[in-house]
Amino acid sequence: MKNEYLLDRKVRQARWDEPLLFERSNPGVLAHQVPKLEQEIQDAFGSLDSIIPKSMKRESAPNLPEVSELQVVRHFTRLSQMNFSVSLGTYPLGSCTMKYNPLINESAASLSGFAWLHPHQDLRQCQGALELMWELEQWLAEITGMDAVTLQPAAGAQGEFTGVMIMREYHRCITKECEQRHEMLIPDAAHGTNPASAAMAGYNVVVVPSSDEGLVDLDALKESAGPNTAGLMLTNPNTIGVFEKDIAEIAGIVHDAGGLLYYDGANFNAIMGVVRPGDMGFDVVHLNLHKTMSTPHGGGGPGSGPVGVNEELAEFLPVPRIIKEEDGTFGLDYDLPRSIGKVKGFFGNFGMLVRAYSYIYSLGYQGLHRASEVAVLNANYVAYHIRKIRGFSLPYSQDDPRMHECVISAEKLKDDTGITAMDVAKRLLDFGIHSPTVYFPLIVPEALMIEPTETESKQDLDRLISAFQTISDEAYSTPDIVKNAPTSTALRKLDEYRAAHPKTLTLSWKMHLEKNEE
Ligand SMILES: *Cc1c(COP(=O)(O)O)cnc(C)c1O
Repeated sequence: MKNEYLLDRKVRQARWDEPLLFERSNPGVLAHQVPKLEQEIQDAFGSLDSIIPKSMKRESAPNLPEVSELQVVRHFTRLSQMNFSVSLGTYPLGSCTMKYNPLINESAASLSGFAWLHPHQDLRQCQGALELMWELEQWLAEITGMDAVTLQPAAGAQGEFTGVMIMREYHRCITKECEQRHEMLIPDAAHGTNPASAAMAGYNVVVVPSSDEGLVDLDALKESAGPNTAGLMLTNPNTIGVFEKDIAEIAGIVHDAGGLLYYDGANFNAIMGVVRPGDMGFDVVHLNLHKTMSTPHGGGGPGSGPVGVNEELAEFLPVPRIIKEEDGTFGLDYDLPRSIGKVKGFFGNFGMLVRAYSYIYSLGYQGLHRASEVAVLNANYVAYHIRKIRGFSLPYSQDDPRMHECVISAEKLKDDTGITAMDVAKRLLDFGIHSPTVYFPLIVPEALMIEPTETESKQDLDRLISAFQTISDEAYSTPDIVKNAPTSTALRKLDEYRAAHPKTLTLSWKMHLEKNEE
């Protein structure tokens, strides 16, 4: 197929000069009116004044924008038109598994029996929800090869923190070497959340270098593992997208040293129904339901990072545990004296659990297996073609197939033309394709981490490859086009530093007012 055909889709993002809702605020305008307390409720419980303790009453109304419902709807619709989503186009953001979120998940989650449940509802009235969570725990345990699962953590990073706390509790209560085992081994290719979670749990991070193949260096691991080792955190396939073929030996080295193995399940999309972390020797696992199980990635919003553990660690899981009673009803067990406690209110992000349940239920074992096969096929197809394009290469393990993602280097492109991985990523936006993850993992210079996922069609993959080809051609002939990209988006190239720095970010209306006063 010719490039022109593949890339002829014109992309123009809307550009609204959209003020904040606060700037639109008009005193007295309402989007919603709360009904007056009904007489029967007042008669039963008394007036609001008598129900709400004085100490919990506000002095004044909260400072919220006063706008109509239509103003709110238009505001967010306009903002959405200036955004990019997996519903709009290819979103190959490596490590993040931006797969399509099937609509059937949404209809399941909006069933009123699920959507309107209150977390404080009487257990007799939410047996269905408890059964769903109990069953999802069983399924995730089966898929990962673990013995017990908690659904409580709200993100992968929180799952990691939960898992590391469980490892610490194990060393405190079982090996009784908690003080001495203060080191967490983490490969240099790891996701930044791994060292962050370990450090939050009080561990010193020991970095394990990668070998020339981009795998865990076994000699370095042997040197690092010892009486101070609490455990190793690892993702397999790793962030290069290559399967750690020595995983059995890695597990042996860490276990022999008295440590535990933590599996970062963010890359689980590569191996569903093919191989299980439990069988590879891992003791603790987290999954990202918002990656692998097709629940949406909120913009910092609801995610879900369930944690699975082997039998020996089950007593340390967060409370409450969901239990099935002998009479078949479901209940909650808070009576776990060695539990690490709670990591999140109630039971986790329940709506995400319904969506993940719906996904697993609709695909079944065969479907999950097939999804991983196609995810791997798609990543290898993309890697095979893009590595041949001028300026790009596929570093590490040339002969090993990639799993669900591939890391391309634009180092040669940069040396030849001055065009960086960041420039390439920005130019892709002009073709209606989201940027891949850039500059991660840190061990690859000018890294572009591409994860197409199984939900992209061959046509979409060909468009992605064509876009890389076109950008390469432009870089060697008219580099300014690439340097100045994107031009078709609502906003042009952003200042990455300002966009990420707490000193320059204005995160709330209150902060905005305070800054303006200064
Ligand atoms: C996404 C990711 C995480 C963290 O998960 P969040 O849900 O974003 O907190 C951890 N490790 C890897 C490899 C990831 O890709």
